[in-house]
Formats: sequence, C-alpha cells, structure tokens
Amino acid sequence: MIDFELPAELEALRQRVDEFIKDKVVPFEHDPRQKPHIHESLRKELVALGREAGLLSPHAPKEYGGLGLDHRGIAVVFEAATWSPLGHLALNIQAPDEGNVNLLMRVASPEHKARLLPPLVAGELRTVFSMTETVTDGAGSDPTLLQTVAQQDADGYLISGQKYMISGVEGAGINIVMARTIDVHGHDLGASMFLVDMDAPGFKLDRELETIDSNTPGGHWEVSFDNVRVKPEDVLGEVGRGFAQAQVRLAPARLTHCMRWLGIARRCHAIATEHAAKRHSFGKTLGEHQGVGFMLADNEIDLHMCRLAIWHCAWLLDQHQQARNETSMAKVFCSEALGRVVDRCMQILGAIGITSDTVIERCYRDIRCFRIYDGPSEVHRHALARRILSKRA
Ligand SMILES: Cc1cc2nc3c(=O)[nH]c(=O)nc-3n(C[C@H](O)[C@H](O)[C@H](O)COP(=O)(O)OP(=O)(O)OC[C@H]3O[C@@H](n4cnc5c(N)ncnc54)[C@H](O)[C@@H]3O)c2cc1C
Repeated sequence: MIDFELPAELEALRQRVDEFIKDKVVPFEHDPRQKPHIHESLRKELVALGREAGLLSPHAPKEYGGLGLDHRGIAVVFEAATWSPLGHLALNIQAPDEGNVNLLMRVASPEHKARLLPPLVAGELRTVFSMTETVTDGAGSDPTLLQTVAQQDADGYLISGQKYMISGVEGAGINIVMARTIDVHGHDLGASMFLVDMDAPGFKLDRELETIDSNTPGGHWEVSFDNVRVKPEDVLGEVGRGFAQAQVRLAPARLTHCMRWLGIARRCHAIATEHAAKRHSFGKTLGEHQGVGFMLADNEIDLHMCRLAIWHCAWLLDQHQQARNETSMAKVFCSEALGRVVDRCMQILGAIGITSDTVIERCYRDIRCFRIYDGPSEVHRHALARRILSKRA
C-alpha cells in the first residue's frame, strides 16, 4: 500500500528546501544572466548556495556526495525546489545531469563512476546526452533511425555524425553519445553509448539554436562529430546495448521532469491565486467571477492529480519495478495538465501575465517543450495504443 505520510525527516528536509528557495534563490529571479539561457556563472553561484545549505544533489547516492533519497523523497524535494524556476540549478537537479547520474549509477564501470560521479554530484561537471538527429532525418521519436556511426578500428572507435537539439553543450565537460556501432568486419553491432570529452578533436559546436525556452544552462545545440577518436574504455556500458541501457535512464528521468514542472506550476498557481484575490473587475475580485474561480479550481485539480500520478510512479520505482508504462502515462498527463495550469495562470493575470514581471511568462515558454522532449505526447500514446491492442488477444 502506498503511504502518503511523509516521514518526519523528509518533512523537515522539505521545509529546509522551501525556506532555502524562498530566501536565497527567488531573489535571483531577475538576475540578467538568464538570456538566451542560464549563464554558467549564475549556475555556479546558485550551486555554491545549495552546497552551503547542504542541499546539493538529493537524487545522488551518499557515497558520491548526494543526499541519497529514494524516489518518493526525490518527488517531495524536487517539487519544493522548483518553487523557483532557478531552484533546479541551486540543488543541481537539472536535466540532463540529474538523469545522467542515474544512468552512470546503473551502467557505468567502477572507473567511470569514480571519475565522473563526484564532480557531477558536486555540480562542478556538467554532462550532455546526445541522441537526437532530427537535422539529418535520423533519430528522433524513432531511435532506430540512428545515423551517427562509431566505426571500430585497432585503437577503438571513430565517431562521425550530426546531432540536433542537444541540451547543455556549452560549458559541459562530458558528452554521452549514442552511435550505431560497426565492428572491424563491417557488422552492425547496434547502438552503443560513448563517453566523449567536449574538447575531443573532430567534435564541433555547429550552431546554437534559438529556442522558445531559456532555462537550460549551456543552451541547445546542433553539433557534429568528424572521426572523433574514442578508446575502447570510453564505451559506456556494453557495446550494442545502448538503447536498452538508455531505457533505464528514461523512466526515472521522465518522472523527475514531472516533479520539477509540478513545483513550477504550483508557484504559477500561487501567483495567480494572489492576483485573483486582490484585483477587481466589475464590482468584485477576479476570483469571485466564476470564470476565474473555476480556472483556479481546475488548477488545483490538475496539480493534485499530477502529484498523485508522480507519487504512484515513485512508489513503483521504490519497489524496484520498471514502471515504464506508468511513467509514460504520467509524462503525458503531467506535461499536458501542468501546461494547462500555467496557461490558465497567464490568462488570470491578464496583461501582466505575458510580461517578465512574474515568472509565469518564462514558465509558459519553458513548459511548452515538456510535451516534446523525452517522447512527444503522441509517441507515448502511440506506444500505449500498441500495448492496449496487443493485450486484446
Ligand atoms: C527543449 C528540448 C531539449 C532537448 N534536449 C535533448 C538532448 O539533450 N539530447 C537529445 O538527444 N535530444 C534532446 N531533445 C530532442 C527530443 O528528444 C526530441 O525532440 C524528441 O525525441 C522528438 O524527436 P523529434 O524532435 O525528432 O520529433 P519527430 O520524431 O520528428 O516527431 C515530430 C512530431 O511528429 C509526431 N510523431 C512522431 N512520431 C509519431 C507517432 N508514432 N505517432 C504520432 N505522432 C508522431 C509528434 O507530434 C512529434 O512531436 C530535446 C528536445 C527539446 C524540445
């Protein structure tokens, strides 16, 4: 049975995070170092505050310097942290680094773990996950279209290809690259993941993409690999098992996106509620008009249902279940429901809503992307439909 009562220790941690975010992080919300994306100097300043407060990397194991929370603990802390759209940076829980910690924990060799996890968990190293190749009609929703190739030779592999919409590139230290692996005899061994240094010869940052969102340190990039040399020991996990191993990252990573957006939507709802209680039109407060009151009510319903979905999945993951279907459904539901919440908040604020006077405007832009990354809603529905129909027989 799922227990919804927070242990006293977790409740105390939630309160500490809540106070930390409101006292130390919210004051940075108008810091100019946020366009077109979060500047590395701002991220580092926030990480230093998180470190000082003893709150860095709640998702990471204690042995590597994190707080070692389980998935339900992570759900509570991530929601509290993202009261500010800068909270994910202060606690070092931003994508893709947070998901990459999980991936490394599960598939990396002891040497890779010892080298990469301590600086990653300390917020000193940022990492990238390079899969999508939309620009070359390669991997996107359908990863089997992967075109980037890792050609094996006597010294290891040579990677060539192009990747698109790769987050966090500028300022990152390590790139986890998915590539089709061809052995010395020309046999296709399937996809593998490789650890590539960002300063490896042949790796190029071709173009920074201008995007609707602005909350990713390092921005989003189109990048290319021209015979980038990687050694045999740079394979992350096993050769040919890249897709299967990336799957272990996916379910928890989808869920942590839901947790972060829940926190942000909760903040937008609080701002809209305050506004609706104070601003007048036609002889009453906005909130007293049924049209606005119902929007607030619908927000509460969406926030509550998202929290329940997240908690259920977190509980399943804590029971060591894969929860692929459940996290997939939660991802679709939360990305759409929380997007609706932020949209309603913008409407309730009227003209103020579309300005940067509140965080709603940036959250509105940022949350739109959530319906696309980690699988567009339609692709999750497509997979779900296939499962439903296959169960029929
Ligand atoms: C903000 C952001 C950050 C990202 N960061 C990274 C990153 O760091 N690393 C990385 O590798 N990738 C990243 N991505 C890429 C992301 O993973 C892809 O955008 C996603 O997998 C979809 O692929 P695509 O964009 O090529 O869309 P496509 O596969 O071209 O699909 C386009 C649209 O077609 C529809 N569609 C596709 N297939 C189906 C189907 N079977 N049924 C019904 N409709 C369908 C959907 O509506 C979909 O939105 C990021 C994306 C965004 C938006």
